[in-house]
Amino acid sequence: MEKSLAMATGLVALIAHDGKKAEMAALASRWRDLLFTVPLVATATTGGLIADAAGLDVHRVLSGPLGGDLQIGALIAENRVRAVLFLRDPLLAHPHEPDISALMKVCDTHNIPLATNLATAEIILGELAAGKL
Ligand code: PGA
Repeated sequence: MEKSLAMATGLVALIAHDGKKAEMAALASRWRDLLFTVPLVATATTGGLIADAAGLDVHRVLSGPLGGDLQIGALIAENRVRAVLFLRDPLLAHPHEPDISALMKVCDTHNIPLATNLATAEIILGELAAGKL
């Protein structure tokens, strides 16, 4: 793990399955001014996309299928994540489904806001913008 991520708290975590990456890039661009003000962590490909599309600095962990969801789950368990925006593709089977379940479980265990679709992601970002998260 990179040193600056090892110290980071108050993170917003961003993950998008392949079928949702375009939605995530558009979301990050729309909310760029807000996201610029908070530390971001993302799975590898999603993070690269957000950095390219919105010009944001993003801590990147491994790709989801390689354990990135679990790395973000560990940050949640350490109470270092304030919200998770996880644009899932519900129409495809994912080989790392157990990791996805674990990530959602740890959000529920620690009462961390978790958006799994665009509509909820917008609501969470609105709350963040209002200083409520
Ligand atoms: P990725 O990982 O951002 O590296 O694609 C997310 C996933 O597909 O689970």
